[in-house]
Amino acid sequence: MSNRKLYCMRCRKFVPQRALDEHGCPFKYISAVDKEMTGIVDRLYKMGIPPVYAVWSATPLKGEKGKYAISIRIDIGRRISEDILGKLPQGWGYIWETATSDRSPMHLIAYGENWCDSGSETLEERIKKLIKDFEEFLDTKDCEAIKAVLILMEGWG
Ligand SMILES: [Zn+2]
Repeated sequence: MSNRKLYCMRCRKFVPQRALDEHGCPFKYISAVDKEMTGIVDRLYKMGIPPVYAVWSATPLKGEKGKYAISIRIDIGRRISEDILGKLPQGWGYIWETATSDRSPMHLIAYGENWCDSGSETLEERIKKLIKDFEEFLDTKDCEAIKAVLILMEGWG
């Protein structure tokens, strides 16, 4: 189901692995994404929060017919203040460290739910809706203002 590809955020297009050198954009513009995730990636890039990768997955829950663990993970490559994007929509959260004892750093904006197929929507429709809802959340933000704040806080441009 998952279909991860290399995506150039500057050119807003997919780049085959073998054509990466010839494509020529610096590596910082290249993100590994599932094709459904480009809308989210484009929006975050515009805010100065370019994702390293952005993927979704749906794993069938063992022994529970029609139930899936849905997960969406966006690695933004660095820790940002949670005030920048503010409160995330229901089910979304920031993950800054692993749950293991070494608590190694992570930089994720992530969504998780156990979804049950009740016949009102398909799994694909559910994923698309979750992605669209998050795009709409990002659309309520002022990209230029966020970029300016990040530059002030982090001292880079
Ligand atoms: Zn490019």
